[in-house]
Amino acid sequence: MNARGGAAAAAGRHCAVPLVTDVKRHSLEDGPGIRSVVFFKGCPLRCVFCQNPETQRPQAEVAFSEAECVRCGACERACRRGAIDMQSPGRIARSRCDGCLACAAACPGRGLRAIGRYLSPPALAALLLRDRAFYRHSGGGVTLSGGEPTLFPDFLEALLPRLRGDGVHVALQTCGDFEYDEFAARILPHLDLIFFDVKIVAPEAHRRHLGAGNGRILGNLRRLIREAAVPVHPRIPLVPGITDGLDNLSSAVRLLRSAGATDVALLPYNPLGLGMAARLGRPAPPLPATFVDPGAERALFQAFRGLLDEPAHGRPAEGEPRWVEPRTRPGQERQDERREHPP
Ligand code: SF4
Ligand code: SF4
Repeated sequence: MNARGGAAAAAGRHCAVPLVTDVKRHSLEDGPGIRSVVFFKGCPLRCVFCQNPETQRPQAEVAFSEAECVRCGACERACRRGAIDMQSPGRIARSRCDGCLACAAACPGRGLRAIGRYLSPPALAALLLRDRAFYRHSGGGVTLSGGEPTLFPDFLEALLPRLRGDGVHVALQTCGDFEYDEFAARILPHLDLIFFDVKIVAPEAHRRHLGAGNGRILGNLRRLIREAAVPVHPRIPLVPGITDGLDNLSSAVRLLRSAGATDVALLPYNPLGLGMAARLGRPAPPLPATFVDPGAERALFQAFRGLLDEPAHGRPAEGEPRWVEPRTRPGQERQDERREHPP
């Protein structure tokens, strides 16, 4: 991390130089064809059920894994702030840690791992373009994810023309909480496809579980569907007890109908973020640690399809949101997310 990047990251919004936590290659679940997914670090929301909690904060962090620690003590000797306690289960006193990453650099294995590193737009483009043959032959491309990629318009304006100039299809996964006019002027022209998360429709519940209201998010969804020249695919992540209630799903269907959405997908619950939250020293969110039973998941999908099939008041069924099968089907073995850290 350099000082300029660190200061920009600490500022949160519109950081000129974002951190990248991971680049997942050969994904079949993040858009059409074979894709590389870039995870940017920094997000305006604080969803308690975040699947990638390491991408929420814009600053570099250290993750600790007890299972991968050989107890050599190198981290304790490297830390000048006395933040390492070899006897503590979480190892790092987070209130003392300033994110200097010296402990991760000193660690001989993966007991302590730095989360996030800077890559210049040319370096990231070069990394992504290594797989251009896969993109071309599969109809795939690059998916921007996170975290929230729209926080970084300067960076994307430098990165995306390099990809699109090489014919690479670019998709965006967004939480939708961005300043619309700036997004439309600076990022949207470089995109081919948008996945837009709709999590909770009721404003108070949204604020409680995601840490912010949803007025701007829902307004952006409506404007994008109306104005964007590229497809906008809403997705609803299923989180037991938080987003998967029929009240929320019914409200989402009404919202999508009124917004003019042409399709919608449900994203099955994925508890893999819980382990990372623990490694980052975050309190455990009150969520199940296992995947949802396939039968129950299938029943929920069926109930949701029933909501979509209900005729809307005073509107014909034609032109209403269409169900999109999730890439990961209930009962199917889930792909172990193989992510590759940028070299
Ligand atoms: S990141 Fe720096 S301050 Fe934090 S625990 Fe590691 S060495 Fe100590
Ligand atoms: S340096 Fe790494 S392996 Fe050694 S004690 Fe610290 S976390 Fe464990």
